[in-house]
Amino acid sequence: MSLSREQMLVEMGITPIWVLRDTAPGAPVVEVGEAAVAEPEARAPEQAPAFVPEPAPVARPAPDVARRPMTPVDTLNWPELAKQVADCRACPLCEQRKQAVLGVGDLNPDWLFIGEGPGAEEDVKGEPFVGQAGKLLDAMLASLDIARGNRVYIANAVKCRPPGNRTPEAAEMAACWPYLERQIALLKPKIIVLLGKAAVHAVLHDDKSLASLRGKRYEYAGIPLVVSYHPAYLLRNLPDKAKAWEDLLFARRLLREAAAPELPF
Ligand code: URA
Ligand code: SF4
Repeated sequence: MSLSREQMLVEMGITPIWVLRDTAPGAPVVEVGEAAVAEPEARAPEQAPAFVPEPAPVARPAPDVARRPMTPVDTLNWPELAKQVADCRACPLCEQRKQAVLGVGDLNPDWLFIGEGPGAEEDVKGEPFVGQAGKLLDAMLASLDIARGNRVYIANAVKCRPPGNRTPEAAEMAACWPYLERQIALLKPKIIVLLGKAAVHAVLHDDKSLASLRGKRYEYAGIPLVVSYHPAYLLRNLPDKAKAWEDLLFARRLLREAAAPELPF
């Protein structure tokens, strides 16, 4: 009987140990994973063998978004962009939001993570990924020895909370796209990770299953890009955390290759 990919990862000792933390530093750790037995730092992610996902990565360029007429958003700087998003009424999501949530993090990042849209807590706090899914995302970042604000920027496909946390509609993502596009242009990240189907729809205009999209190298405006599961999905489907860990290792490999293409990693 052959072992599943997850079982193999457990056997190999590279299953990610992602745990939810209380926001207070030093607060007790809440385990959410079936294999969650240790703090992330105890897992020594650097010791994980380089993982080659299957199928082998192939370059799949995103649609050429550069070939379109300039819009006013294309020239905004960060303060102007923040103001325009805060005041935006370009789609119906403006009606029930408490506030628009632009993004958070290092403005000169290596990593850009893109999620779906603000939930209830994000709507109140004005920062992406501060609820349960955000705590898992923070644990995932910690397992890579990075953190929000430290080489990482986090954004969403839409900046305003969809009522009831429903999936944003295609028209809403299209209305909000110029802001995300401008964020990417200003940030110039070295690797982009799309978390979930909405982000994939917004950036790659692809609606295929995540299972069929992950494990491949895409490009957006020359920036390497990978697709992975949304942390909220991972909270409901714990075994897929192993696949998300593979995706992050793959992304890190692409990042390192982009940083030093001549060095074999
Ligand atoms: N889910 C998202 O996709 N984004 C957030 O900011 C929070 C939850
Ligand atoms: Fe504007 Fe985006 Fe908010 Fe819609 S979701 S109102 S496009 S900022």
